[in-house]
Amino acid sequence: MKTIGLLGGMSWESTLGYYKAINEGVKSKLGGLHSAKIAMYSVDFEPIEKLQQAGDWNATAAMLCEGARRVESAGADFLLICTNTMHKVSADIERAINIPVLDIADATAEVLVAEDIRTVGLLGTAFTMEQDFYKGRLADKYGLDVLIPNDDDRAIVHRVIYEELCLGKTTAASKAEYLRIIEALASRGAEAVILGCTEIGMLVSLADTEVKLLDTSVIHAQQAVERATAQ
Ligand code: GLU
Repeated sequence: MKTIGLLGGMSWESTLGYYKAINEGVKSKLGGLHSAKIAMYSVDFEPIEKLQQAGDWNATAAMLCEGARRVESAGADFLLICTNTMHKVSADIERAINIPVLDIADATAEVLVAEDIRTVGLLGTAFTMEQDFYKGRLADKYGLDVLIPNDDDRAIVHRVIYEELCLGKTTAASKAEYLRIIEALASRGAEAVILGCTEIGMLVSLADTEVKLLDTSVIHAQQAVERATAQ
Protein backbone atom coordinates (compact mmCIF):
# COMPACT_ATOMS: atom_id res chain seq x y z
CA MET A 1 0.00 0.00 0.00
CA LYS A 2 1.22 3.50 -0.84
CA THR A 3 1.48 6.25 1.77
CA ILE A 4 -1.04 9.07 1.29
CA GLY A 5 0.26 12.57 1.97
CA LEU A 6 -2.15 15.12 3.40
CA LEU A 7 -1.54 18.85 3.57
CA GLY A 8 -4.32 19.69 6.00
CA GLY A 9 -5.61 22.20 8.49
CA MET A 10 -7.51 24.31 5.97
CA SER A 11 -9.56 23.97 7.98
CA TRP A 12 -8.78 21.22 10.46
CA GLU A 13 -12.53 20.55 10.67
CA SER A 14 -12.49 19.24 7.11
CA THR A 15 -9.17 17.44 7.54
CA LEU A 16 -10.84 15.30 10.20
CA GLY A 17 -13.28 14.19 7.50
CA TYR A 18 -10.41 13.26 5.16
CA TYR A 19 -8.70 11.18 7.84
CA LYS A 20 -11.91 9.28 8.56
CA ALA A 21 -13.00 8.82 4.93
CA ILE A 22 -9.57 7.59 3.84
CA ASN A 23 -9.32 5.08 6.68
CA GLU A 24 -12.89 3.88 6.08
CA GLY A 25 -12.13 3.51 2.37
CA VAL A 26 -9.02 1.41 3.02
CA LYS A 27 -10.88 -0.69 5.58
CA SER A 28 -13.73 -1.41 3.18
CA LYS A 29 -11.32 -2.25 0.35
CA LEU A 30 -8.82 -4.39 2.24
CA GLY A 31 -10.89 -5.59 5.21
CA GLY A 32 -9.64 -6.83 8.56
CA LEU A 33 -7.55 -4.41 10.56
CA HIS A 34 -6.22 -2.61 7.51
CA SER A 35 -5.96 1.15 7.82
CA ALA A 36 -4.43 3.85 5.66
CA LYS A 37 -0.76 4.79 5.67
CA ILE A 38 -0.90 8.56 6.02
CA ALA A 39 1.72 11.27 6.40
CA MET A 40 0.10 14.57 7.31
CA TYR A 41 1.22 18.12 7.92
CA SER A 42 -1.54 20.32 9.30
CA VAL A 43 -1.02 24.09 9.11
CA ASP A 44 -2.12 26.91 11.41
CA PHE A 45 -4.97 28.31 9.29
CA GLU A 46 -5.31 31.80 10.82
CA PRO A 47 -2.25 33.38 9.14
CA ILE A 48 -3.11 31.70 5.86
CA GLU A 49 -6.64 33.08 5.90
CA LYS A 50 -5.28 36.59 6.65
CA LEU A 51 -2.96 36.33 3.67
CA GLN A 52 -5.83 35.14 1.44
CA GLN A 53 -7.82 38.23 2.43
CA ALA A 54 -4.81 40.44 1.73
CA GLY A 55 -4.36 38.78 -1.66
CA ASP A 56 -0.81 37.71 -0.78
CA TRP A 57 -0.98 34.33 -2.47
CA ASN A 58 2.81 34.14 -2.85
CA ALA A 59 3.18 34.12 0.90
CA THR A 60 0.54 31.38 1.24
CA ALA A 61 2.36 29.40 -1.44
CA ALA A 62 5.63 29.64 0.50
CA MET A 63 3.95 28.28 3.63
CA LEU A 64 2.25 25.46 1.79
CA CYS A 65 5.39 24.51 -0.14
CA GLU A 66 7.18 24.15 3.19
CA GLY A 67 4.35 21.96 4.51
CA ALA A 68 4.34 19.85 1.36
CA ARG A 69 8.10 19.26 1.64
CA ARG A 70 7.58 18.02 5.19
CA VAL A 71 4.91 15.60 4.00
CA GLU A 72 7.22 14.34 1.29
CA SER A 73 10.10 13.84 3.70
CA ALA A 74 7.77 11.93 6.03
CA GLY A 75 7.46 9.32 3.26
CA ALA A 76 4.31 10.19 1.32
CA ASP A 77 4.06 8.73 -2.18
CA PHE A 78 1.63 11.40 -3.38
CA LEU A 79 -0.01 14.52 -1.96
CA LEU A 80 -3.54 15.77 -1.39
CA ILE A 81 -3.96 19.48 -0.71
CA CYS A 82 -7.06 19.21 1.51
CA THR A 83 -8.77 22.40 0.35
CA ASN A 84 -10.19 23.55 -2.96
CA THR A 85 -9.19 27.19 -2.47
CA MET A 86 -5.51 26.57 -1.95
CA HIS A 87 -5.32 24.74 -5.26
CA LYS A 88 -4.82 28.31 -6.45
CA VAL A 89 -1.16 27.75 -5.58
CA SER A 90 -0.96 24.06 -6.53
CA ALA A 91 1.48 24.71 -9.37
CA ASP A 92 3.95 26.22 -6.87
CA ILE A 93 3.50 23.23 -4.57
CA GLU A 94 4.02 20.78 -7.44
CA ARG A 95 7.29 22.50 -8.29
CA ALA A 96 8.47 22.33 -4.66
CA ILE A 97 8.19 18.54 -4.31
CA ASN A 98 9.03 15.39 -6.23
CA ILE A 99 5.84 13.45 -5.55
CA PRO A 100 2.64 13.97 -7.57
CA VAL A 101 -0.27 16.11 -6.39
CA LEU A 102 -3.73 14.59 -6.75
CA ASP A 103 -5.76 17.58 -7.91
CA ILE A 104 -9.19 17.99 -6.27
CA ALA A 105 -10.82 19.65 -9.31
CA ASP A 106 -9.53 16.92 -11.64
CA ALA A 107 -10.82 14.20 -9.32
CA THR A 108 -14.27 15.81 -9.29
CA ALA A 109 -14.35 16.58 -13.02
CA GLU A 110 -13.52 12.95 -13.81
CA VAL A 111 -16.68 11.88 -11.96
CA LEU A 112 -18.76 14.42 -13.89
CA VAL A 113 -17.35 13.39 -17.25
CA ALA A 114 -17.90 9.69 -16.46
CA GLU A 115 -21.55 10.49 -15.69
CA ASP A 116 -21.90 12.60 -18.83
CA ILE A 117 -22.78 15.75 -16.87
CA ARG A 118 -21.94 18.90 -18.84
CA THR A 119 -23.53 21.78 -16.92
CA VAL A 120 -22.61 22.01 -13.28
CA GLY A 121 -23.12 24.44 -10.40
CA LEU A 122 -20.20 25.37 -8.16
CA LEU A 123 -20.25 26.37 -4.48
CA GLY A 124 -17.09 27.32 -2.63
CA THR A 125 -15.20 30.30 -1.33
CA ALA A 126 -15.37 33.49 -3.40
CA PHE A 127 -11.86 32.65 -4.64
CA THR A 128 -12.98 29.25 -5.90
CA MET A 129 -16.27 30.46 -7.39
CA GLU A 130 -14.92 33.60 -9.03
CA GLN A 131 -11.35 32.95 -10.07
CA ASP A 132 -10.08 30.98 -13.00
CA PHE A 133 -7.75 28.55 -11.26
CA TYR A 134 -10.72 26.28 -10.48
CA LYS A 135 -13.65 27.23 -12.71
CA GLY A 136 -11.31 27.72 -15.65
CA ARG A 137 -9.74 24.31 -15.13
CA LEU A 138 -13.18 22.64 -15.18
CA ALA A 139 -14.14 24.52 -18.34
CA ASP A 140 -10.85 24.35 -20.28
CA LYS A 141 -9.65 20.87 -19.39
CA TYR A 142 -13.02 19.08 -19.22
CA GLY A 143 -15.37 21.23 -21.34
CA LEU A 144 -17.77 21.75 -18.43
CA ASP A 145 -20.21 24.65 -18.29
CA VAL A 146 -19.85 26.04 -14.76
CA LEU A 147 -22.66 28.05 -13.14
CA ILE A 148 -22.03 30.07 -9.98
CA PRO A 149 -24.55 31.75 -7.64
CA ASN A 150 -25.41 35.45 -8.05
CA ASP A 151 -23.40 38.12 -6.17
CA ASP A 152 -25.52 38.11 -3.00
CA ASP A 153 -25.62 34.35 -2.78
CA ARG A 154 -21.87 34.04 -3.36
CA ALA A 155 -21.35 36.40 -0.42
CA ILE A 156 -23.54 34.18 1.77
CA VAL A 157 -21.76 30.98 0.74
CA HIS A 158 -18.34 32.57 1.36
CA ARG A 159 -19.28 34.06 4.74
CA VAL A 160 -20.73 30.82 6.07
CA ILE A 161 -17.54 28.93 5.15
CA TYR A 162 -15.18 31.23 7.07
CA GLU A 163 -17.42 32.42 9.89
CA GLU A 164 -19.17 29.14 10.64
CA LEU A 165 -17.98 25.93 8.97
CA CYS A 166 -14.24 26.47 9.43
CA LEU A 167 -15.02 27.04 13.12
CA GLY A 168 -17.01 23.81 13.34
CA LYS A 169 -20.35 25.61 13.51
CA THR A 170 -23.42 24.48 11.56
CA THR A 171 -26.79 26.23 11.79
CA ALA A 172 -30.24 25.40 10.43
CA ALA A 173 -30.46 28.91 8.91
CA SER A 174 -27.26 28.47 6.89
CA LYS A 175 -28.29 25.02 5.78
CA ALA A 176 -31.60 26.41 4.49
CA GLU A 177 -29.73 29.16 2.61
CA TYR A 178 -27.34 26.68 1.03
CA LEU A 179 -30.21 24.43 -0.06
CA ARG A 180 -32.02 27.43 -1.55
CA ILE A 181 -28.87 28.40 -3.47
CA ILE A 182 -28.37 24.81 -4.68
CA GLU A 183 -31.97 24.68 -5.94
CA ALA A 184 -31.49 28.03 -7.70
CA LEU A 185 -28.45 26.65 -9.56
CA ALA A 186 -30.46 23.59 -10.57
CA SER A 187 -33.31 25.74 -11.84
CA ARG A 188 -30.79 27.64 -14.00
CA GLY A 189 -29.81 24.33 -15.63
CA ALA A 190 -27.16 22.78 -13.40
CA GLU A 191 -27.41 18.98 -13.70
CA ALA A 192 -25.36 18.65 -10.53
CA VAL A 193 -23.76 20.95 -7.96
CA ILE A 194 -20.14 20.69 -6.84
CA LEU A 195 -19.60 21.22 -3.11
CA GLY A 196 -16.30 22.87 -3.96
CA CYS A 197 -15.20 23.58 -0.44
CA THR A 198 -14.08 20.80 1.84
CA GLU A 199 -16.29 21.93 4.75
CA ILE A 200 -19.66 22.12 2.95
CA GLY A 201 -20.34 18.42 3.53
CA MET A 202 -20.56 19.25 7.26
CA LEU A 203 -23.64 21.38 6.49
CA VAL A 204 -25.40 19.79 3.53
CA SER A 205 -25.60 16.11 2.78
CA LEU A 206 -26.52 14.32 -0.41
CA ALA A 207 -29.83 13.22 1.13
CA ASP A 208 -30.95 16.82 1.78
CA THR A 209 -31.95 17.58 -1.80
CA GLU A 210 -33.08 16.01 -5.07
CA VAL A 211 -30.23 17.87 -6.78
CA LYS A 212 -27.20 15.69 -7.43
CA LEU A 213 -24.33 16.87 -5.23
CA LEU A 214 -20.64 16.12 -5.58
CA ASP A 215 -18.70 16.48 -2.36
CA THR A 216 -15.14 17.28 -3.41
CA SER A 217 -13.58 16.15 -0.14
CA VAL A 218 -15.25 12.74 -0.34
CA ILE A 219 -14.30 12.29 -4.01
CA HIS A 220 -10.74 13.41 -3.30
CA ALA A 221 -10.42 10.99 -0.37
CA GLN A 222 -11.88 8.12 -2.44
CA GLN A 223 -9.44 8.75 -5.24
CA ALA A 224 -6.58 8.72 -2.74
CA VAL A 225 -7.74 5.32 -1.48
CA GLU A 226 -7.89 3.93 -5.04
CA ARG A 227 -4.41 5.18 -5.77
CA ALA A 228 -2.93 3.96 -2.49
CA THR A 229 -4.38 0.47 -2.83
CA ALA A 230 -3.88 -0.03 -6.58
CA GLN A 231 -1.70 -3.05 -7.36
N1 GLU B 1 -11.60 24.27 2.89
C1 GLU B 1 -11.99 25.30 2.04
C2 GLU B 1 -11.92 24.94 0.57
O1 GLU B 1 -12.06 23.79 0.25
C3 GLU B 1 -11.83 26.72 2.40
C4 GLU B 1 -10.75 27.09 3.35
C5 GLU B 1 -9.57 27.62 2.60
O2 GLU B 1 -9.55 28.80 2.33
O3 GLU B 1 -8.66 26.83 2.28
O4 GLU B 1 -11.81 25.78 -0.27
